[in-house]
Amino acid sequence: MLQLKNIAKYHSNGIQKNWVLKDISTTIFEGEFVSIMGPSGAGKSTLLNIIGMLEEPSGGEYYFLDEPVHKLSEKKRTELYKHYIGFVFQQYHLIDELTVYENLETPLLYKKVSSSERKSRVADILDRFNMVAKKDLFPNQLSGGQQQLVGIARALIGQPKLILADEPTGNLQSAQADEIMQIFKKLNEEEKVSIIQVTHSEKNAAYAERVIHLLDGHVEREERFTR
Ligand code: ADP
Ligand code: ADP
Repeated sequence: MLQLKNIAKYHSNGIQKNWVLKDISTTIFEGEFVSIMGPSGAGKSTLLNIIGMLEEPSGGEYYFLDEPVHKLSEKKRTELYKHYIGFVFQQYHLIDELTVYENLETPLLYKKVSSSERKSRVADILDRFNMVAKKDLFPNQLSGGQQQLVGIARALIGQPKLILADEPTGNLQSAQADEIMQIFKKLNEEEKVSIIQVTHSEKNAAYAERVIHLLDGHVEREERFTR
């Protein structure tokens, strides 16, 4: 699915460089479910954002489905992102002024999907997530867990090959967090969607088959679970 070779990233304050990622090399295969763990400031979100093409590395090579992302124009990267990647955020990032239905439809509008196709895809996903009755509600009328379900449904509506999730259950209680992890596991096992999640929770991390532990901008160790 993707390969990172010697990825590095720094932020500069004009005087000195602050290296956030030092030398990250790893391969993530199609159909894998991977967790990224590590202490605060280790570079987890930065790594996820680079994989998601939301941030550019300062050095190294990044291949996504054999495309050299580090050499592509921003336009081409955006196309890849829109076509293949769905992002799930800790803070949900739903649009408050839009209903659940409209929030789910938005990515399809950006992709210029026809009106009839939009209707059928939104109807399908509402059905799958048991949210038909909530389609006309606004995000602030939903619990945190329900908002994150909408966040995941929105990430899935473009039929991505890869889901990237940054602390997807960071604001949820444990029962709701378990529900979200079960959804990820099912998506991964039954629909072969690749998943990379950043998490602080050992329990959530163990839903994946591999954990990459980051420390100070490098891979400290990797751990594999057999399922
Ligand atoms: P983690 O997700 O592991 O907590 P991050 O990737 O968010 O780590 O951040 C790693 C380090 O990079 C932190 O010290 C953070 O303050 C710094 N950092 C992240 N983004 C920026 C930025 N835009 N400008 C400067 N420093 C940044
Ligand atoms: P989280 O820990 O939830 O990943 P952070 O609070 O570390 O989030 O970062 C939130 C945003 O602020 C990110 O977009 C990150 O790039 C940016 N950021 C983090 N640290 C700095 C910094 N020192 N200078 C500028 N931007 C930063």
